[in-house]
Amino acid sequence: MKYYSTNKQAPLASLEDAVIKGLASDRGLYMPEVIKPLPKEFYDNIENLSFQEIAYQVADVFFGEDIPADKLKEIVYDTLNFDTPVVKVTDNIYSLELFHGPTLAFKDVGARFMARLTSYYTRNQNSPVNVLVATSGDTGSAVANGFLGVDGVHVYVLYPKGKVSPIQECQFTTLGQNITAIEVDGTFDDCQALVKAAFMDKELNDKLMLTSANSINVARFLPQAFYYFYAYAQLKKMGKADEMVVCVPSGNFGNITAGLFGKRMGLPIKRFIAANNRNDIFYQYLQTGQYNPRPSVATIANAMDVGDPSNFARVLDLYEHSHKAITSEISGATYTDEQIRETVKKVYEETGYLLDPHGACGYRALDEGLKPEETGVFLETAHPAKFLETVESILGSKVEIPGKLQEFMKGEKVSIEMTKEFEDFKGYLRQKV
Ligand SMILES: *Cc1c(COP(=O)(O)O)cnc(C)c1O
Repeated sequence: MKYYSTNKQAPLASLEDAVIKGLASDRGLYMPEVIKPLPKEFYDNIENLSFQEIAYQVADVFFGEDIPADKLKEIVYDTLNFDTPVVKVTDNIYSLELFHGPTLAFKDVGARFMARLTSYYTRNQNSPVNVLVATSGDTGSAVANGFLGVDGVHVYVLYPKGKVSPIQECQFTTLGQNITAIEVDGTFDDCQALVKAAFMDKELNDKLMLTSANSINVARFLPQAFYYFYAYAQLKKMGKADEMVVCVPSGNFGNITAGLFGKRMGLPIKRFIAANNRNDIFYQYLQTGQYNPRPSVATIANAMDVGDPSNFARVLDLYEHSHKAITSEISGATYTDEQIRETVKKVYEETGYLLDPHGACGYRALDEGLKPEETGVFLETAHPAKFLETVESILGSKVEIPGKLQEFMKGEKVSIEMTKEFEDFKGYLRQKV
């Protein structure tokens, strides 16, 4: 499979190039040249397949031409050594729980897959590959843990000082080995700008092999399609899949875009809802047709504090820049911190189900927007205990911390302090060789 750039000014790339480079040379995002539908027999039988079996079939469509079958199967099966159950919250709203992996957030899926694919492609190389990743919280932990101990790869996690929760922070600052945490005096957008600038810097790229692990990377982005298929299979088993609406709490829009790819592959999802916090750039685009990026504002759903969603380019490309086509399959919602708090509290009191602040946006958009004949699934993108202070202050009671998180909290924080000036970051990277 070849990959083209959303900016259409770069040459076609192989999977290997797309994975190693991350971003195309024209600053566009890579897209697979074709999105092949899966055969009818696959959908007819999907409810009888395991998560890993489904994921392998989906992976084969994207990566089967490039990776030997037994290797691809191994990568997929290794990546998904945890389940993603669909849990009933109300009569017609279900939670797709994507928080049963090592760092208790959906990004584990893409990060683990990418780590294994990168290691496959760099197995014969002498110099290490340097993965640069900007995070507003959850990406950093998922990527760091996905790559931890993987040979021939060093990961630099850039995160905004004081803007990630202590629990998030300890998941990438306490690991050591091939993981370095860089604490940037700025916002998430500043971190993302530093990473982008590094990829564009000729001098750095001549000296170091740099790659990205943000959701722009096809190896992280495409595997997120897996669980949409599995969610469908689970609903189908319950006889609830006929009018399935999927709601995705969205920040950089990688997660929802992978779902849109699933739909292109024939997955019978009726429509999508993108739920935003107050960073409602996409919501405004849906209403007006105008895309106006602006600086992000801090919210209690901080993994969605994104002012210029990087995967928007992929959404536009997928629908050939047609606002009409986009709005026919995707609607939006936007919630204030106050509304998020209200939703977490209300749902917990009425159903006993504890939402995290991101999932709360997803639940609420379904609760407000679902038609009677539809069944809604929202992606519960992280475990509520990852946002402990917020969730405990909403409930007014203690939340139990899963054992996996407690382990991270025992470690010692080590980080490198950095300004948001590119020259400083560049100087730091340069002295690494
Ligand atoms: C990353 C993240 C999101 C947003 O996902 P995108 O793919 O960036 O849209 C939502 N919720 C949580 C918990 C996240 O970590």
